[in-house]
Amino acid sequence: MSECIFCKIVEGSLPSHKVFENDDCYAFLDIFPAGRGHTLVIPKKHVRDIHEADALTYSKVAAAAKDVADLLAAKLGSEGTTVFQMSREAGWQTVLHLHMHVIPRWKDDGLHKPWDIAPADDADLREVLQQITK
Ligand code: 5GP
Ligand code: ZN
Repeated sequence: MSECIFCKIVEGSLPSHKVFENDDCYAFLDIFPAGRGHTLVIPKKHVRDIHEADALTYSKVAAAAKDVADLLAAKLGSEGTTVFQMSREAGWQTVLHLHMHVIPRWKDDGLHKPWDIAPADDADLREVLQQITK
């Protein structure tokens, strides 16, 4: 038996509020939601994060997240959508089974970006680009 809570949700040994399911992915309401309809989309097979997922598995989760986003927008009448995917501790991941957060958004929902917006120094952009592409 898996110790992973999201594997237990897929297996049905832990309860969840199912939003969507296909052959490869499962989606359910987040129990600590950022807002109304906040849904988590996961692969049915255990994979830890974006770096450990193969591209096909990740793309199936992304495609399911798109279906969920469209479903939530159609049913809840949301005005926009925010999708988050946290990987590893430094990336704010707390449950170590790959998941995408799909959050229906409204103009007046009070959510705000978790980073401060400031213009980059062009030298910094060129320096990091050099490291990425060399
Ligand atoms: P992370 O911080 O890893 O990106 O997101 C994990 C998410 O899983 C959190 O938003 C948290 O509220 C949610 N979560 C944690 N445990 C459970 C659970 O047992 N059931 C459900 N539905 N969501 C959970
Ligand atoms: Zn798992």
